[in-house]
Parts: sequence; structure tokens; C-alpha cells
Amino acid sequence: MYFSYLLKYLFNNSVKFILNVKTADLVSFKIGGKAKIAVFPKNINEFIDILTILNDTKFVIIGNGTNCYFTDDYFDHPIVSTRLLNKAYVDKNVVTAECGCTINSICKIALKSELSGLEFAYGIPGSIGGGVYMNASAFGDSFSSVILSSKVYDKKSKATYTITKEEHRFDTKHSIFKDGNLYVLESTFGLNDGKCNEINQLMLKNMNKRINTQPLDMPSAGSVFIKPDGPSASALIDSLGLKGYSVGDAQVSKKHAGFIVNNGNAKATEVNELISHIKHLVNEKYNIALKEEIIYIN
Ligand SMILES: Cc1cc2nc3c(=O)[nH]c(=O)nc-3n(C[C@H](O)[C@H](O)[C@H](O)COP(=O)(O)OP(=O)(O)OC[C@H]3O[C@@H](n4cnc5c(N)ncnc54)[C@H](O)[C@@H]3O)c2cc1C
Repeated sequence: MYFSYLLKYLFNNSVKFILNVKTADLVSFKIGGKAKIAVFPKNINEFIDILTILNDTKFVIIGNGTNCYFTDDYFDHPIVSTRLLNKAYVDKNVVTAECGCTINSICKIALKSELSGLEFAYGIPGSIGGGVYMNASAFGDSFSSVILSSKVYDKKSKATYTITKEEHRFDTKHSIFKDGNLYVLESTFGLNDGKCNEINQLMLKNMNKRINTQPLDMPSAGSVFIKPDGPSASALIDSLGLKGYSVGDAQVSKKHAGFIVNNGNAKATEVNELISHIKHLVNEKYNIALKEEIIYIN
């Protein structure tokens, strides 16, 4: 019932959509089978309309698809991509960005406006919505330190409103959005006056660290596990000699043991098996229960 209504809306409003979409094309890991439909709203009003149409059915939102992978099986539910929702503007020390803006584009806007505070995030390949959802972090800093507020769609009340920083309930790789009732429409970031040169230098330094330590030339979804208390997940995995260990085409990166890379044709089932194997060994040796950061959509 919802599907014919959705299609009618998409046709009437010239919204881009792909039927029988290859989900691997939507995610940086390049993993997943086909799905019923992916829709690409081109403005926030269309996004809200589509969320309202899909309100009572199962669907999934993806931003830049850099922290998730889809089932190998047919995904019989709509995917809403935010990648065309990419407007942003600056007012004094506040940057406002729609949820589909890439994090990198917002870092560059901040640089251009000589605003400091987002340098840590330069190189995180996700979108603003995904970054807020995940409380994206790097080099000891996180979204929670710069965000002021977000405009959200509430699935329960079907209303849109603004939440304060505190109402995001940020924690390590966590926000209120993980409860599944709210969706990010746009977010505002409070930044400090800075010097273009210094901001640029720090952004480049951070990017170079990534280039030197991460397998950026291979498809992946970033760090697989949330950092446990104590040593990092990658240090634990490395200590078990698992760098290069593979299940099919899913492989623990030889460059960074916290990443799993897709060696060409990896299946979600192979990634899941590899994750289970790593978790089992880490638990057996160190009595630490690793938790996945990356999201398996099925
Ligand atoms: C090479 C590489 C390096 C990385 N480095 C880092 C790093 O340093 N730090 C870090 O934190 N992460 C890192 N990541 C992971 C990832 O880039 C971040 O978590 C990013 O914030 C995810 O954004 P995304 O748009 O790709 O999210 P997606 O993968 O598209 O989605 C992730 C989750 O967010 C939800 N979501 C997306 N948009 C919205 C929205 N508008 N409203 C509500 N929910 C939404 C999705 O439903 C999904 O559950 C890295 C990934 C890669 C591949």
C-alpha cells in the first residue's frame, strides 16, 4: 500500500529513485545484494514528506554509506539516501549544514570562513547526518564538542523540531538517533575564530595521519569495533597476529588491524564470519567483549 503511494509521490515531484538498486554501490565497503528501491530527495521538504510516507513501514536512511554494509540477500525495504541534501551556510561563528553534506565539505567551508573546531573531522568520509548519529570522532575530539543543535524529524509525533546539544545524548559512538525514532534534518556547529593557515595545517596533518595509517585504497567501512576500555581494538587484534587474516574476500587490513577490507568480491556473510572470529579470539585471550561500530543492514 505504502509503495504505490511512495511511487506516486516520487513521480509527481520528480524525485530521483532507483528500483532494484545494487546496495553495494551505495556504501564504501562495496558489499550488499539488491534492494527494492533507493530514493534521493533533493530538498528537506521532500525528505520530510518521504519520511512521513514511510513512517509506519521498515526503511533505512543512509548518508554517505561509509559505516555500514547491506545483506547479500534481497533487501525488501526502501532506502532513503540523503546525499542530495547538501546545502550549508555560515552565520558569524555558526555553520549550519543539511544532513547530506559531507563532513569534508563542511570542514572546507569552516576553513574558508576562518573558523576553527572541525579540523579533527577532516578526512572522516561520512555525511553530517551519519556523523551526528555516530558522534563521529578522531584525534581525541568528537562531534559532541562542536555541535549546537539539530533540526530533527520525530517518527512518533511525525513532527519536526530542534533539539539542543544535551538532547543529543552523545556518548562514545552514540547519540539519541540510535534509538531509531529521530532523524537528522540539519545540524548547527559552533566554531571559534581561527587563522586560515593554522586551520589548514592541522587539517592536512590529520589527513596525512590517515593516509599513513589507514587502508584508504581499499573498500572498507572504517574501524570495525568501538574502542574498548584500555588498549584499542586494533592493538588487540594485531597482538593476535590477525593482520591479513581472511574469510573469503573479507580481510583484516594488513595496514590497520582495526579495519576489515573488501579484497574484491567480499560478501556480508564473510564479513560477519570474520567479525565473529575476531570477537571470539579477543574474548578468549583478553576477556574483552568487542562491540561493532559498523552497521549491518538486513
Ligand atoms: C576510511 C574510513 C575512515 C573512517 N574514519 C572515521 C573516523 O576517523 N572517525 C569516525 O567516527 N568514523 C570514521 N569512519 C566511519 C564513518 O565515516 C563515520 O561514522 C561517518 O560519520 C558515517 O557517516 P555516513 O554518512 O557515511 O553514515 P552511513 O554509513 O550512511 O550511516 C551510518 C548510520 O547513520 C544513520 N544515518 C545517516 N544519516 C542519518 C540521518 N540524517 N538521520 C539519522 N540517521 C542517519 C544511518 O541510518 C546508519 O545507521 C571512517 C570510515 C571509513 C570508510
